[in-house]
Amino acid sequence: MPAVEIVDSVWLVGSGTHPDVLTDPHDCHCYLIWDGTGGLLVDTGTGLGADAWLANIAEVCDPAALAGAVVTHYHADHAGGTAAAHAAGLPVIASAETRTALAVADESGTSLAPARAAGIYPADYRLSPATVDRVVGDGDTIDTGRLSIEIIAAPGHCDGHLVVLLRRAGQRILFSGDCLFAGGRVSLQAIHDCRLDRYADTVVALAARNIDVLLPGHGEQVLREAGAQIQQAAESFRRLVPPPNVLTG
Ligand SMILES: [Zn+2]
Repeated sequence: MPAVEIVDSVWLVGSGTHPDVLTDPHDCHCYLIWDGTGGLLVDTGTGLGADAWLANIAEVCDPAALAGAVVTHYHADHAGGTAAAHAAGLPVIASAETRTALAVADESGTSLAPARAAGIYPADYRLSPATVDRVVGDGDTIDTGRLSIEIIAAPGHCDGHLVVLLRRAGQRILFSGDCLFAGGRVSLQAIHDCRLDRYADTVVALAARNIDVLLPGHGEQVLREAGAQIQQAAESFRRLVPPPNVLTG
């Protein structure tokens, strides 16, 4: 299955839902940034579709030319492919919280155990221990080729969640993981580290970033004027009301 170019210099290389890039039904969207001089993978899916997204990356660029793979957060649909990325020679980049959890394949800390019990993952699915090569935090940048890509801390959906900001051709492109979705929706789950107060602070701060393009970890992409939708979510949080939950429709 081919990689699909979503916007200039950004490809979808893995997905659980996109019909042309279906790597595994349990995978999040995995995005490849590549401008011809440098690039980065954002999220690694469950690992169940790793061979497919590694092939999709190789279709677009030499994987050895990438700065690595950023894992937005430690939930298995985003981080389960980390071991495969590392084994393929991609340096893994993540928060300290994600590094700690993945080092021991912490299935309770990452909420994989309750999610599997809820039927969200196959009964025999397991998280593989994985190495994080570089820990990043709020305000750090990843320089690759001519690109300088910003990391922003975005807790709320879970602890240690990061989002990735690419400035390209006058546009601000936000890779939001499970933090923000089309329609100004958020992802709220009854798990130990989903924190509404921190989520509110995160979304209000992101609303001030004047984002043009929103590339979330699931669902549709917002290719123009995404800032207005993020602003709606922030306004809702300012009224102390959680925005619509992407998981309830
Ligand atoms: Zn998640």
